[in-house]
Amino acid sequence: MTPNQIMQIFRDTAYVRTGGSAEELRCAEYLIARCAEMGLEAHLDPFAVDMATIRTAVLEADGQVIPCKGYLCAGSHTVEAPLYYLRGSDRISLAACRGKIVLFDGYLGYWRYRELIENGAVGFITYDGNANYADFDIDQRELRSYVSKGEKLPGVNINAKSAIAMIERGVKTVKITLEQDEYAGESRNVVLDMPGERDDIIVFTAHYDSTSLSQGTYDNMSGCVGLLGLIEYFRDHPHRCGLRFIFCGSEERGLLGSKAYCAAHEAELGKIVLDINIDMIGCIMGRFAAHCSAEEAVVSYISYLGCELGVSIAPRQGIHSSDSTPFADRGIPAVSFARGAPANTATIHNAYDTIAVMSGEQMAADIDFIAAFADRMANAAICPVKREIPDKVKDELDRYLLRKK
Ligand SMILES: [Zn+2]
Repeated sequence: MTPNQIMQIFRDTAYVRTGGSAEELRCAEYLIARCAEMGLEAHLDPFAVDMATIRTAVLEADGQVIPCKGYLCAGSHTVEAPLYYLRGSDRISLAACRGKIVLFDGYLGYWRYRELIENGAVGFITYDGNANYADFDIDQRELRSYVSKGEKLPGVNINAKSAIAMIERGVKTVKITLEQDEYAGESRNVVLDMPGERDDIIVFTAHYDSTSLSQGTYDNMSGCVGLLGLIEYFRDHPHRCGLRFIFCGSEERGLLGSKAYCAAHEAELGKIVLDINIDMIGCIMGRFAAHCSAEEAVVSYISYLGCELGVSIAPRQGIHSSDSTPFADRGIPAVSFARGAPANTATIHNAYDTIAVMSGEQMAADIDFIAAFADRMANAAICPVKREIPDKVKDELDRYLLRKK
């Protein structure tokens, strides 16, 4: 693909496409059409996801309405209670949550939610955006089922500027009114198979969904363009291994597409020798990395390959918060490529993730390197990467997948 063709794909897909939405389906169909243009047939592989439509989400602070978005899948309730700003995870901070609506910094993760439940919070407020930016954007968040485990507290997300104002003003009492319809919906992976001479398979993954405010150009249409580039490459080059390309849905909702794929295709996982994942490449600024959920030898190999090809890359051993992780958790070695931009040059999960941060030339160069690595793996006499996950990586998987704190 030429830099111009790459940038055209970014323009074609410059819309929000959250997991399970009609726009996600529209993008899946777009990817299938791009494969068809290359003379190859990709198909949809649907899976079930929780969905919700908010009817009412109101936050009042001492009677004043604060702009907010209600947490999806957090149930329907009205609750009024004292506001408490939870500043830390120490016991004294946590003990004060009882009977309060709790405002806290950062993301609603599994352990934070357990802390709220165990310490008797009756509702929660998160905030995002950046107090130094002019916009007043508020991301649409959800209470994931593996976080709530059926215990639903009402929650809202607000802009950082509102959070600061509430604390500065010394707000005493807040009221959350949340009403929503929750239902079972559908998200989907897009799968393309290229059989090889042998039974073993290399899987390629990249997610195509976005978060609620984001066109998801860098995160992660860039990875999908990477997959399209690899598809084009292998259409024209021989490969001994079978190749399977999976454009994953609902990654931003907790790696749901790759988790669903591994669960639904259990019987075929034994044939998969390697996952090559791409999550965010081709940005103007930033450095190239490879996160290897595999033996240390792969790290050295990629480092040598960078030297051979004259490409600057920083490989490391460890997991990546992306679709490589469910495969690694099934014992499949995974290498996840990413070009990390400094946060003051390109940010993600907000309205600033657009074509403006992308370089067609850098995209093409990153795809060339990944294709060179994939070609060597796909044409090796046997897959050189041992099919085992080192203990250090297993420990990271246990923490990431919430089996360990
Ligand atoms: Zn991503």
